[in-house]
Amino acid sequence: MPEGHKTHFVAQQHRERFSGQAIKVSSPQGRFRTDARKVDGRELADVNAVGKHLFYDFGDEAPGRFVHVHLGRYGKFREHELPLPQPKGQVRMRFVGRDVGFDLTGPTACRVIDEREHERVCKRLGPDPLDPKADADLAFAKISKSKKELGALLLDQSVIAGTGNIFRAEILFELRLDPTRPGNSLTRSEFDKLWKTTVRLMKVGLKYDRIITVSRAEAGKPLSQLANDERFRVYKQPRCLSCGSEIVQWEQGGRQMFGCGICQGFSLD
Ligand SMILES: [Zn+2]
Repeated sequence: MPEGHKTHFVAQQHRERFSGQAIKVSSPQGRFRTDARKVDGRELADVNAVGKHLFYDFGDEAPGRFVHVHLGRYGKFREHELPLPQPKGQVRMRFVGRDVGFDLTGPTACRVIDEREHERVCKRLGPDPLDPKADADLAFAKISKSKKELGALLLDQSVIAGTGNIFRAEILFELRLDPTRPGNSLTRSEFDKLWKTTVRLMKVGLKYDRIITVSRAEAGKPLSQLANDERFRVYKQPRCLSCGSEIVQWEQGGRQMFGCGICQGFSLD
């Protein structure tokens, strides 16, 4: 599932390519047809990301201000030059600007919403590390009151918006934090480091449009040249880069978690 760096990357790209233009919005597959008509032909004012959610802002309220997209596990954008080819597969939304367009397939959410609903969605989310105005205190308040394990808390979008399965494993490893520790055992200074690392790693992800947690020194080559399986320290890795022991894998918060028991000081038995 794309994590927050990806939605911010897409928001930036789509803002540059489409804002200020009248957009043709349609639903070749049909499931988004009624909503597509509400925004079709209107001028796009802005595109924003909050955590893993994207909002295409059409400015005026009626008959609906935002197209809200959540990619979920299978959502994909395919960009095309004009004229666009015949839709391929189940295209939920086709979005066509002046020079380029894209097809969206397989999203978890794709709907037109008003300002109230936009606010409701955003209120459910924790602070977003890629938002310069994010209030990290809100995340600490939730974590420090919770008995849930850190690894599970970092998947919870109401705690921190945008971190997902890869980031949680990599962030906790970088800080040598035990993923099985309860949230309420985290000190404020440990949390401050966690937030700082999260912001830094997500910014790297945004810059390269993919999650990269190894340093240039660890990788032995420029980060832009890394193969897909060379980007991580623990996620789907056989051995720990730091101590050489086997990376442990288990289910935590409903997803596969990865960590080094030696470096992070935990044992699953
Ligand atoms: Zn290790």
